[in-house]
Amino acid sequence: MSECVFCKIVNKEIPADIIYEDEQIMAFKDIAPQAKVHVLIIPKEHIHSNLYFEGRHKPVIGHLILKANEIAKKLGIADTGYRLIVNTGKHSGQEVFHVHWHLLGGEPLGRLVCK
Ligand code: AMP
Ligand code: ZN
Repeated sequence: MSECVFCKIVNKEIPADIIYEDEQIMAFKDIAPQAKVHVLIIPKEHIHSNLYFEGRHKPVIGHLILKANEIAKKLGIADTGYRLIVNTGKHSGQEVFHVHWHLLGGEPLGRLVCK
């Protein structure tokens, strides 16, 4: 059994407010939102960080970015704009080592960074 919190969400071992899911990816609300809308989008495969992507992941990366647009539209933050952030490694402050995109919006974000 994985110790990774996001793998646990993928495997439905712990609850999350899931807003989108398919065979490859999942999107759920961040437990500690830093903007009015704060969603995390992840590949279901456990990948430690952005640094660990390989060529074979290109399709899932493309899929995830396109779904981020769809999710932003569905949540009504596409027209007003949003931010996608991928923290990577120590200096970024990455805390969960299962790669994830922060989708933030719903209000002016200013200089807000996802930390
Ligand atoms: P990062 O610092 O980029 O690794 O971001 C990790 C994010 O995961 C933070 O914004 C946390 O609030 C969020 N997070 C941690 N545990 C959970 C959880 N169980 N459900 C939803 N979001 C979580
Ligand atoms: Zn994981």
